[in-house]
Amino acid sequence: MGYEQIPAQAPHVVFLPFPSQGHIIPAIQFAETLASKGFTVTFVCAEHRIAKIRKSHGSGLNQSIRLIGLPEELQAEELDCIDRGTLSFMTEIKIAENMPPAFDQTVNGLIEDSKKESSVPAPLCIISDFFVSWSQDTANKFKIPRYVFYPSPSLCLAPMLYLPCLIEQGVVPLAPDTRNIVIPGLPPPWDVSDMPKSWHQSAPKEWREFAFRNLLRLHESSGILVNTFYEIEGEAIGAVRDEAINPNKVPIYPIGPILPSNFFKVEPFAQEAFSQQDNECLNWLDEQASSSVLYISFGSVAIPSIRQIQEIAKALDACQQAFLWILKLPPSATQATVLPEGFLSRTHSRGLISSTWAPQLLILSHPSTGGFLSHCGWNSTLESICTGVPMIPLPQFAEQPMNSKMVTERLKMGVKLRTGADGVAESGDIEKAVKILMQEEEGLAARKRAIALKEAAARAVAEGGSSYTALKAFIQAAVTHTQ
Ligand code: UDP
Repeated sequence: MGYEQIPAQAPHVVFLPFPSQGHIIPAIQFAETLASKGFTVTFVCAEHRIAKIRKSHGSGLNQSIRLIGLPEELQAEELDCIDRGTLSFMTEIKIAENMPPAFDQTVNGLIEDSKKESSVPAPLCIISDFFVSWSQDTANKFKIPRYVFYPSPSLCLAPMLYLPCLIEQGVVPLAPDTRNIVIPGLPPPWDVSDMPKSWHQSAPKEWREFAFRNLLRLHESSGILVNTFYEIEGEAIGAVRDEAINPNKVPIYPIGPILPSNFFKVEPFAQEAFSQQDNECLNWLDEQASSSVLYISFGSVAIPSIRQIQEIAKALDACQQAFLWILKLPPSATQATVLPEGFLSRTHSRGLISSTWAPQLLILSHPSTGGFLSHCGWNSTLESICTGVPMIPLPQFAEQPMNSKMVTERLKMGVKLRTGADGVAESGDIEKAVKILMQEEEGLAARKRAIALKEAAARAVAEGGSSYTALKAFIQAAVTHTQ
């Protein structure tokens, strides 16, 4: 079936992301994709997140996307964290877990509204993040399918789908002396230190319960939309489709990389988008030489320890590298107290530090950007792939260690950085990795690989490509599915 065969009356989906920035960014971009294919999308999230989307997208959001904010009961200090962009993951969990009654009411309202004349039809399905699995109950209650939105790679999905067996085998929760684990279909052994921290016996119980509660329900869904593409993860996609991991044969749709709708269309994307911006980072990049700048950022959640920040600063001081550093500090710290004395004046001519939200995709698309020292959140990793920028991974938590290994060992588009048992990389090692990436033969090879992967990504989403075909299969299933 082609997209043109979508029923004349726009099909309607309800989209519920997890209320964290890194989950919302690909969710709203995927909602845009669906809207561009003829869907009406009701995008439901915590009120403060919806307010932010309204502010950042304004009237630019596709008219077929309707935003609905759910009430949240937050303390004054939590509201303050929202303003400063430092809301903790635990608060985001609290917000998500308080949503079910309001979400049920919303879906019920949408169904009731659909009975009125000339209104939007009842929702065909719910698409919801893997961290809001309680929405499976809403889907069951209203007898509509639920598709899981999984914003990380299949390589991480594999152990998650295999979790019931790992629990049954007594491997998880992971004991301090567990060395490695075996996941069917994927080369052994898996290093236990790569697994999410919540899977370890030492993790706070409420983390583990939250993770397991959500992951164990992946198998109940009608399909899983994964933000990845076949060309970077053929083996892992094969593994998550296999009965050994996926006994219910839940369909897997690798529909990524999900990026803003004009990314692959406007040629070159950046030129058009740059011209609409007056941003300190982009203006500064305009003054730098081609591929000369190391971009440093740890995403929307992680704040590296003060020691890690100081080790990065020492390395930048020592290696004379041009850099653009998006520096988020712990609440009580300031640049003056954390950075080495004289660092700002010494590096002034070749470095820029910014502490505000950065236009990351545009920074990576800029011709002056030559490398990315990153926590390897999956969105950042895909953005680096799609802009052809090689990486130095410095993972902080969640699935980032697995993404990092994928970048260096499987995709070979990055330079490995050694870290200590506490996860901190020392200045000498950072300096070495930066020099390799930015100046040496190995870095050049990583850059060539990144550019080849960028081209593969563009082919995957183009008509007839692997992700295009997966999206078409998902749309066909969604518009024809009856539970
Ligand atoms: N991001 C951004 N500007 C910033 C920080 C982050 O645009 O200053 C975006 C980044 O481009 C990516 C997302 O936020 O799309 C971060 O997602 P990722 O999965 O990399 O990490 P997370 O924030 O979830 O840890």
